Amino acid sequence: MALNLDGRVVRDRFKGELIERVKKLGGQPVLAVIQVGSLAASSLFVSQKVKFGEAIGGKVNLINLSAQVTFAELQNQILKLNQDSSVRGIIVQLPLPPHLDVFDVIETIDPKKDVDGLTAINLKKLWTNLPAGRQVRGDAIIPATACGVLSILDFYKIPIEGKRAVVVGRSNLVGGPIALTLLGRGATITICHRKTLNLAEVTKGAEILVSAAGHPGLITKNHVSPGQTVIDVGLTPGLDGALFGDVAHAEVAKIVGAITPVPGGVGPMTVCSLFLNLL
Ligand code: ADP
Repeated sequence: MALNLDGRVVRDRFKGELIERVKKLGGQPVLAVIQVGSLAASSLFVSQKVKFGEAIGGKVNLINLSAQVTFAELQNQILKLNQDSSVRGIIVQLPLPPHLDVFDVIETIDPKKDVDGLTAINLKKLWTNLPAGRQVRGDAIIPATACGVLSILDFYKIPIEGKRAVVVGRSNLVGGPIALTLLGRGATITICHRKTLNLAEVTKGAEILVSAAGHPGLITKNHVSPGQTVIDVGLTPGLDGALFGDVAHAEVAKIVGAITPVPGGVGPMTVCSLFLNLL
């Protein structure tokens, strides 16, 4: 049976450090979270951020906007938070309703307050840090999900440098940044997506397999091989409030060397990474 890569254990390892850093700040760091609409899964993700933020001594200001909010209204709200010196970080909970362009919305966030690390400037810094395998520059904010994936690999001492890493999913917000950070850490990366032919053949060749497709059950026993590390980034909400990863966990765990569960894998560590970025 595969080693269980427990994201909650990794998160708790950082928790004490974050509590100390908040104490040293001398004031409560404030994270503003904007939720547009009331999707059940978004409410759940937001409540996890509020809970963790409070647990480390921070403050999370939740701003709920109607699903019908216009781009101009949302933009105004973000600009106000950019100006507000008491606010240290800003997150817009995704997904957004289809009438709002996610990239236009994200670009409104002040890159210094972009704790999700998704503004063009922060993604560009990720690129520019690649060549010499340098550490990411001090002022760059690494996308929280990618940071969560790396923290889990590092905590469980899974080597990245020189390894073959396959990332399933090429989105600008999740799969892409994860692949870039793995590349920056010296992995040889392959990025798969909907047009990839013979997905199973490619994924089987990975030493580190990361799935960020948002497609429950995509990675089956036929897609993996013994000894691999499998990181499941998928978090697809079901009808009853349950969350589903991309990986058919029970059958895959019998074959691979190590695997993250869903829930309790990348999710908790991504939340923690937001606060590492905030501080
Ligand atoms: P997110 O922002 O959470 O990454 P997206 O829907 O924007 O979500 O991106 C999903 C990614 O996963 C896309 O790059 C898509 O090509 C990939 N993907 C989705 N389904 C499959 C599939 N069945 N096989 C391979 N790749 C897939």
